[in-house]
Amino acid sequence: LRVDRLFTDVRLATMDPALPGLGVIEDGVLATRDGRIAWVGPRRETPAFEARETIRGEGRWLTPGLVDCHTHMVWAGDRADEFERRLEGASYEEIARAGGGILSTVRATRAATREALARSSLPRLDALLADGVTTVEVKSGYGLEPASEYRQLEAAAALESERTVRIVRTFLGAHTLPPEFAADREGYVRLLCEEMIPQVARERLASAIDAFCERIAFTPEETRRVFEAARVQGLPVKLHADQLANTGGAALAAEFGALSADHLEYTDAAGVAAMARAGTVAVLLPGAFHCLRETQLPPVESFRRAGVPVAVATDCNPGTSPLVSLLLAANMAATLFRLTVTECLLGVTRNAARALGLADDRGTLEPGKRADLALWSIERPAELVYMMGARPLAGRWVGA
Ligand SMILES: [Zn+2]
Repeated sequence: LRVDRLFTDVRLATMDPALPGLGVIEDGVLATRDGRIAWVGPRRETPAFEARETIRGEGRWLTPGLVDCHTHMVWAGDRADEFERRLEGASYEEIARAGGGILSTVRATRAATREALARSSLPRLDALLADGVTTVEVKSGYGLEPASEYRQLEAAAALESERTVRIVRTFLGAHTLPPEFAADREGYVRLLCEEMIPQVARERLASAIDAFCERIAFTPEETRRVFEAARVQGLPVKLHADQLANTGGAALAAEFGALSADHLEYTDAAGVAAMARAGTVAVLLPGAFHCLRETQLPPVESFRRAGVPVAVATDCNPGTSPLVSLLLAANMAATLFRLTVTECLLGVTRNAARALGLADDRGTLEPGKRADLALWSIERPAELVYMMGARPLAGRWVGA
């Protein structure tokens, strides 16, 4: 049997849902062909393969490449000064008056070329890749006007030609109200629904539509209109929901069959039940929880009991989660939210792929899935969650 690459002498954490836990196969073999996984199983059952290249793992662990399913990692400008001033006692109001906050990122992003946006994002992307990430979701939402939003999405796509990585783009025009519409919310929602979402669909600039449903952003009624516009275009939706208060965001997302609802600290029992019925993934973002020094924990036990799949992501963004390590996000999910090791690792592979609508394509080591792989110098998978900043990656393949 002719294959492209053969990984031998590896321990496999397949994340295969047909197997318990992480789907471990000790002393495993994995073969790839044409960028896909052709065979996976224990060595003693391995057929005679003829491989173009053989990679001997020397007992290392092979997992699916990690999937960061929620980031805002393409932006321009710098908020480190604001972070510093806040620690020195400046209030949010003073910072806003001095031109800080999200609107400073919007100004800088609007002023940046596509090339400059991509270039300034590369160090963040490189940090994610050093953690074994092979798929990164990137949201727009710092342009807040048609041309700048599209440019942000094009910059995200351009990252694929700079690095070996798969980028999945999400349109988040409904991130915050742009300053020029401060007195005309209705006008901006109309612009989103009647012009921007149809154009995003027409030009395939993104594969999903997201919104920020919160008292400081968009109301449930405005979010509903954004989702209806997405539905007309046949685009799936996701939602920043119930992060700072329970606005019924999780239930609203589920009503529209959302791929995921994200944050969810304040989600109530009705929201959890609605997500379970709709098959909506709960994406937990402990980086933002940490940076904002939140205390309200997401209802993890309710998600477990209801069978809601849970994913974990960095939420990489300049304001509330300047986090560029998915393994550290997993560690925070364990430490702060009490997810188990298995939940954390399924949360950055299989369930993260599902949160992007890509469950059939990646996120597990199963025949037919993309050969996106990470090889780790560890003794047991728990180390990936337990260590902080260890960077145990030994190899990474995208479409091997
Ligand atoms: Zn976010």
